[in-house]
Amino acid sequence: MSDPTRPKGPKIIAIANQKGGVGKTTTAINLAAALTEQGSRVLVVDLDPQGNASTGLGIEMDAREYTTYDLLLDDASLDDVILPTEKDGMSIIPATVDLSSADIELIANEKRSFLLHDALRQPAMDKFNWDFILIDCPPSLNLLTVNAMIAAHSVLIPLQSEFFALEGLSQLMLTVREVRQSANAGLRIEGVVLTMYDARNNLSQQVEQDARDNLGELVFDTKIPRNVRVSEAPSFAQPVLDYDPASKGAEAYRTLAKELVAKNLRTAA
Ligand code: ADP
Ligand code: MG
Repeated sequence: MSDPTRPKGPKIIAIANQKGGVGKTTTAINLAAALTEQGSRVLVVDLDPQGNASTGLGIEMDAREYTTYDLLLDDASLDDVILPTEKDGMSIIPATVDLSSADIELIANEKRSFLLHDALRQPAMDKFNWDFILIDCPPSLNLLTVNAMIAAHSVLIPLQSEFFALEGLSQLMLTVREVRQSANAGLRIEGVVLTMYDARNNLSQQVEQDARDNLGELVFDTKIPRNVRVSEAPSFAQPVLDYDPASKGAEAYRTLAKELVAKNLRTAA
């Protein structure tokens, strides 16, 4: 995939929502897998100390010698931190629980908000030829998430189709606005994607209606259904696209990837 507005460098997307359990990591893993299947080269950056994206993509603990922590705070080289996954064209910078102390260590660092920006946008990144970099954010609006928003071109927000889903959204949007005003004027909202959608459940339909009424075009047409295969896949260390390629969840992430790419071509035209 090539985008004429970005003659050089990948599109960097932060996958963020300060609520836990809304589908950030699931979306990072499976959107990355779908984009890769469709011909893109994709890097996933695990920015959550829980390391769920790393685990879900089969990176064993003892393979995580160099992590996002080392990239941010120890100047580790890209060659050391970027690990290949089972999927050709898709790599990951893994995380461990070490990253939980980074939030505090960052406070003492003068360049604290720009460390991920500087790491991901360094010239040494060019040789990898990524089309996309997807950052899996922690469930918090802390300095790590701010780093992601400053490093990124856009923010993709998974919204769980359940009660109170929209509640935290205004705070998230406020943070995006603050980052725009202070450090990253070009930051866009890539879109809001409804996750764990259950068409038989009135509540899911209500959340969808509210989201579309309030956020309009920002909401992706594609919804990710609640699908047990999606939740099983991480324990097999695979994206659902490989674990069960024909599942409803795999199909939905493929459709989301197509919608994302089409949207980016449209805004580039
Ligand atoms: P977050 O990263 O926002 O904390 P996760 O992606 O880890 O959220 O998802 C939370 C839980 O919900 C996980 O157990 C995950 O397997 C499950 N889950 C996410 N998306 C789906 C889905 N579409 N269908 C079923 N389970 C899902
Ligand atoms: Mg997560």
